Amino acid sequence: MGYLIEIVEDEEDVRHSLDVMLRRAGHYTRCASCGVMALELAVQSPPPDLIILDLMLPDLDGLDVCRRLRAFPITSHLPVLMLTARADESDRVRGFEAGADDYLLKPFSPRELMMRIHAILRRTPAGAMAGDEVQGFAMDGLRLLIEEGKALVDNEDVGLTAMEFRLLQYLAAHYGQIVSRETLLREVWRRDAPQRVRTIDVHINRLREKLGPSGAWIETLRGYGYRMLRRREGASPPLAAPSLEAPQ
Ligand code: CA
Repeated sequence: MGYLIEIVEDEEDVRHSLDVMLRRAGHYTRCASCGVMALELAVQSPPPDLIILDLMLPDLDGLDVCRRLRAFPITSHLPVLMLTARADESDRVRGFEAGADDYLLKPFSPRELMMRIHAILRRTPAGAMAGDEVQGFAMDGLRLLIEEGKALVDNEDVGLTAMEFRLLQYLAAHYGQIVSRETLLREVWRRDAPQRVRTIDVHINRLREKLGPSGAWIETLRGYGYRMLRRREGASPPLAAPSLEAPQ
């Protein structure tokens, strides 16, 4: 599982190496080679969890792109990591003024890049509670009782099978992150893997039905997989993330 990261860079070799680094780290990527394309990709569904934005672009510069992202309600919250080849402090200041969350100087190591990305995502709801070892999970009427292997919606047991519970628990433990069908097969089904990834869609649909209105927390991302939403219009955010360990 990982996050969906938009890479905006006109230099092909840099774009390619960013793409490779991020994919190797388990993330998903979308690439743009100019500012206009960056803005177009930012409003596509699903929205990126983070945008890596080069300062020097052939059309709009990175500062313009950042200001425009901040000006539109649907993109105003997207975290932006700005890249530049110049160590000029005024660039840095202008980057933050334009709304960048952080700044990275080229050339950078994969390790440095990942540290910056994770630092930004930790500050945003996407990563705020990832990694916390809390037993139990609650959001907007849905509660997971980890030890009992039960899911409650408005305090009523919805009667999940062990597999459905494991599936829900896995998604909840990684809420805000995209989980591919292949990952679910490997991590949730393990040795009892169904032969086709399609089977997962059937299980997800059944799980959604049992959860009723809370089923809407599980989002289908065409071409990527599934994601437990970290926020929904008018709903309260999760109170606690469950531990990552599924019951044996
Ligand atoms: Ca560039």
